[in-house]
Amino acid sequence: IMANAATKRGWHLYLVGGAVRDFFLTEAKTLALQDVDLVVDGFYQNAQAGAGVELAQLVQQQYPAVELQVYGRFQTAALIWHSQEDQQPLMIDIATARTEFYPYPAANPEVEASSIRQDLYRRDFTINAMAVCLTPPQPGVLLDYFGGLIDLQERQVRVLHANSFIEDPTRIYRAVRFAVRLEFRIESQTESYIRYALSSGIYSKMQEQVAKVPALQTRLKRELQYILEAPYWQSALGLLDKLGALKCLHSSLEMSDRLWHQLRRVSRWLERFQFHSAIAPWQLRLEVLIAQLQPRFRHTVATNLQLPSETIYRLKQLEAVEAELAQNLPTAQQPSQIVRQLRRYDLPLLLLISARQPRPTGQKIWQYLTQWSQVKAPLDGNDLKALGYQPGPQFKAILDDVLAATLDQQLQTRQEAIAFVTE
Ligand code: ATP
Repeated sequence: IMANAATKRGWHLYLVGGAVRDFFLTEAKTLALQDVDLVVDGFYQNAQAGAGVELAQLVQQQYPAVELQVYGRFQTAALIWHSQEDQQPLMIDIATARTEFYPYPAANPEVEASSIRQDLYRRDFTINAMAVCLTPPQPGVLLDYFGGLIDLQERQVRVLHANSFIEDPTRIYRAVRFAVRLEFRIESQTESYIRYALSSGIYSKMQEQVAKVPALQTRLKRELQYILEAPYWQSALGLLDKLGALKCLHSSLEMSDRLWHQLRRVSRWLERFQFHSAIAPWQLRLEVLIAQLQPRFRHTVATNLQLPSETIYRLKQLEAVEAELAQNLPTAQQPSQIVRQLRRYDLPLLLLISARQPRPTGQKIWQYLTQWSQVKAPLDGNDLKALGYQPGPQFKAILDDVLAATLDQQLQTRQEAIAFVTE
């Protein structure tokens, strides 16, 4: 529909970006397209309306079940097919060919209608800057202005120009992500551009910009999420550290044996025990990374990245709660004392502290999480009512004492609990 409509209007339609890359990397039968990027190039003068939006609207008129979203400022439209409930929807993004000007480094680009070559030139890496034309006169022809195909064959991630990382430092994270995911290397000149951008202090500009530019916050957070939730997160984090790119989060952040140990610990726990519903693994990994910073920096970094308010609150509380637990837990001997200390804190906070703290604090938290927090008293409120107690503060205190006695193994059966209460 879109190719026909574009042809009628004298425009060209192209398949671009990741779909073209993956088409060359993947055997046709296993290629599962989920995210498709199209660009329409129509020498279209009216940048406000956008040719891409117009084509997307035509599809939606014919298929009303398809969801249409329009992102005004960048003149892009997204078509979303929710085919089956258990399957990921198919997303088609349709943009109007554009050139972007970055008013200052690490800023959000300004957009101007332009041609396909310039549209491809503003992309991140050669392997992502190829297009396949879908309209006459040469449907199916590959546009590869920057040597993307050779780089795919040579298995390397290469930027299109020297300023690329200064313009958009999140590309450093993308370079690492593609290199690790595709098992490519970062081409040596590209690596030196990354190191140059980092040594020129782009990360401190970035921290300032991240605080002010919402789009950059979102992009950096999204790249971090992609990396930290992927099965290859350890290799990606290792490469980011080797390049010095963790400094984009904070100038003092770097990997250490201790930090690796903490990250692997929380990851093992999240995998082994069903803690996933409490917090997404990538988020907890990111919290462990941020917790590595001195307490006075944690809040700013988490806020700048626009992390969820629970994360920001947890990182804010961390120092005080760690100090309190490090003081009280080692001397607490009875399980009931430990449970009383820990039950007011949420699971992600306890996982975070347990991964960071040495024995015996970490170990006691761990015993709490895996055993004691699941212990139930052999008597409940109904039993107490049957014994003649009325709900109120005393009622709750009795239930608490019964639970404590159960935890400390003084009680096991309901009869023993009733005897305990009546005595
Ligand atoms: P994936 O398989 O991870 O989705 P993708 O290449 O489709 O890979 P997207 O993040 O969806 O990645 O981006 C789509 C395309 O947009 C990329 O292929 C690239 O051409 C371009 N792009 C995305 N982010 C940037 C960026 N920060 N700078 C320049 N171009 C970018």
